[in-house]
Amino acid sequence: MIITKEKIKNDLKDKLINHYAVDINEATNFQVYFSLGNLIRDYASRGWIYTNNSYVKYKEKQVYYFSIEFLMGKMLKANLLNIGILKECKEALSELEFDIDDLEKLEPEPGLGNGGLGRLAACFLDSMASLAIPGHGCGIRYRYGLFEQRFIDGHQMEVPENWLKEGNVWEIRKPDKAVIVKFRGKIDWIKEDGELKFVHKNYEPVLAVPYDTPIVGYENSTVNNLRLFSAEIPGSEYDLASACHGDYKKILDYKYSVEAISQVLYPDDSSDEGKILRLKQEYFMVSAGIQSIVRKFKKLGLPFSEFSEKIAIHINDTHPAFCIPELMRILIDEENISWDKAWEITKSSISYTNHTILSEALEVWPSHMVSELLPRIYMIIEEINRRFCNVLMRLYPHNQEKINKMAIIADSKVKMANLSIVGSQSVNGVAKLHSEILKNKELKDFYELYPEKFNNKTNGITHRRWLMLANEGLTNLIDDTIGTVWKRVPTDLIRLREYRNNPAFCEEIRKIKRGNKEKLAKIILDKNNIKLDPSSIFDVQVKRLHAYKRQLMNGLQILDLYHSILENPNLDIQPRTFIFGAKAAPSYYLAKNIIKFINSIADMINSDPRVKGMIKIVFMENYSVTLAQSIIPGADVSQQISTASKEASGTGNMKFMMNGAITLATLDGANIEILNEVGDENIVIFGLTSKEVLDYYEHGGYSSREIYHRNHRIKRVVDDLINGFIPKLSQDEGMDIYNHLITYNDEYFVLKDFEAYIKAQEKIDMLYKDKDKWTEMAIINIASSGQFTSDKTITSYANGIWNARMGEHF
Ligand SMILES: *Cc1c(COP(=O)(O)O)cnc(C)c1O
Repeated sequence: MIITKEKIKNDLKDKLINHYAVDINEATNFQVYFSLGNLIRDYASRGWIYTNNSYVKYKEKQVYYFSIEFLMGKMLKANLLNIGILKECKEALSELEFDIDDLEKLEPEPGLGNGGLGRLAACFLDSMASLAIPGHGCGIRYRYGLFEQRFIDGHQMEVPENWLKEGNVWEIRKPDKAVIVKFRGKIDWIKEDGELKFVHKNYEPVLAVPYDTPIVGYENSTVNNLRLFSAEIPGSEYDLASACHGDYKKILDYKYSVEAISQVLYPDDSSDEGKILRLKQEYFMVSAGIQSIVRKFKKLGLPFSEFSEKIAIHINDTHPAFCIPELMRILIDEENISWDKAWEITKSSISYTNHTILSEALEVWPSHMVSELLPRIYMIIEEINRRFCNVLMRLYPHNQEKINKMAIIADSKVKMANLSIVGSQSVNGVAKLHSEILKNKELKDFYELYPEKFNNKTNGITHRRWLMLANEGLTNLIDDTIGTVWKRVPTDLIRLREYRNNPAFCEEIRKIKRGNKEKLAKIILDKNNIKLDPSSIFDVQVKRLHAYKRQLMNGLQILDLYHSILENPNLDIQPRTFIFGAKAAPSYYLAKNIIKFINSIADMINSDPRVKGMIKIVFMENYSVTLAQSIIPGADVSQQISTASKEASGTGNMKFMMNGAITLATLDGANIEILNEVGDENIVIFGLTSKEVLDYYEHGGYSSREIYHRNHRIKRVVDDLINGFIPKLSQDEGMDIYNHLITYNDEYFVLKDFEAYIKAQEKIDMLYKDKDKWTEMAIINIASSGQFTSDKTITSYANGIWNARMGEHF
């Protein structure tokens, strides 16, 4: 189907009439937005059906990507881009006197994720569809996504994010595909034909209703599926009323307790709160997803021995790890397959990505909680564990400690990472360093047992959203310079290297960056009422707020610079604008105090006439995918300063380099791979290595107090936390941070890395003075960024883990 500008105009007018009974010239922006969304979904629907049918017809291997988070970002322009009608649609709208960006502003961002993990899942969906891989997402349709962040007197306030208020134009509810998920109750066994059979009795049924969203591939007519489940009561309200004997309050209590399962995303990316509900969410998603997969597989009419040839199930971190016992349950209890065969099928179908080595973030569940809520699943985990421990006892007969460490159930806890490793065919880390640390340290015992399972898949980002959509100016310049092959084969960006000293090209690059900075400055003026100088260095740190990411170190460095300017008003530095964006988990007090600290120094410094024109600080509220798309193209400096060994990969770092920012980084996660691509003269690296950090953790020998007493500049900024120097920072807030740094010995080596960080910042200042050099560095970063597209990452998952076909581009 060819979609012309004229067709879009006509179809859109029809939609408005049919849907809202308005003429286009009377329609509101929202009506046009919603009708356009509807229209785009219509355009995608043919491809959606066609793709699905062709997968069924050719019995192609299907990949299912399970993730408790999908942080998709807005979809209006992304869908238009991938369908291939973004330009036509912009023109059509403009002829009808509407502006596509005004319409997109009305689209709510579905914040169904916390940060990197959820955004990775979204980039992967885009890449799977764009590579024509039959790959689908599976997750939860949270009624409320991640909270909206506001600042009140510099404090974070959390506001519920009602993203479905006006409806979601991209999804289709599929009540006919709903399944029942069973909680609690009791397991009985009966003998049937001499075989033991397990029956689940007196369970609490929950209906999992799928909402499907089309995932459009880039100009290739593939449309995959993102299936998110919503929890509802089974049967009608009327049935429920009879069951509750008309007790109205009881009916509503029950209804709320069921709907609570898909009510809210946990606003914490490292530890679990509201334990039982989170556990329910995990099993709910997994059981609904696996039931759908098995039901679809059975329609192919193939024996279960071919299951793993036709289906790959990937689990994004351990939250979906109940996929393992759930698939076992269905195969054994419902399909009458023997344990050994079921185990073979399960193990060979499932693969697992580990995302963290922060030990506090490794998921464990109290055994009693699992056994009460999921009695049959717990039995199966116990049996997997029993068999696994038998193997371990044979291998390490005198090493009870090691067996305990590797067991799936130990000390009355279910260890989800251990379950994921034992029950899968592949375990991958998300950057080379991270995968090495997993093999040599965190998961060493497992690596020695199953060396063949372990591999690395460095994360990536989709250049379609993070370059083609976010940075139109740069996209056009690249097209004019090296043609458009890079859009399908992003590694072709490397050809930009040849232009690194081409004066006309460099001038264009500078102009585009300048334009993006002006646009960002305008947004900041509107939102924060702070006027920025677009010729200052835009030095950006945007990501979740976490102690290991060290926004605190950045704040202290700014405070130190402030003192330096006060001491020496003629200090020769480039004017600098520090831009922050970060949400803190609501119960993470240190993180919230760090936000308050940065907001407080921002107030102090921005209002001090003595540093006017030299430094400014902006903390933008509510960091999100949408905000990231306008901040990152305007950045000069990308701060990636986590304590070495702590950031598994990072993907923000990749978005920035792709948009021509220079990375200021520690040797952590994928920063190391960025360094290898751009070379050490095109990145600024500082700080402890991961080996040094890990050695300190293992052997001790670090005293932050010693550094504090020895280095007067460090002492000065740390004392500022508690001596009233920062007017808006309270004694308690400052003391909490002070204690973290001094009393509790600075777990993340902020003070240890501080001097090196200051020097690195001075280097940035010096490099920026040389405009030609800086532009050359930016170009090399853009040119090298093709190595970090999720297309490359997904190609390697498809070949190395899933054994899934990749389609032709056409
Ligand atoms: C990319 C992204 C992240 C991850 O950023 P890191 O710097 O890798 O931690 C988090 N949140 C949003 C909204 C993003 O787009």
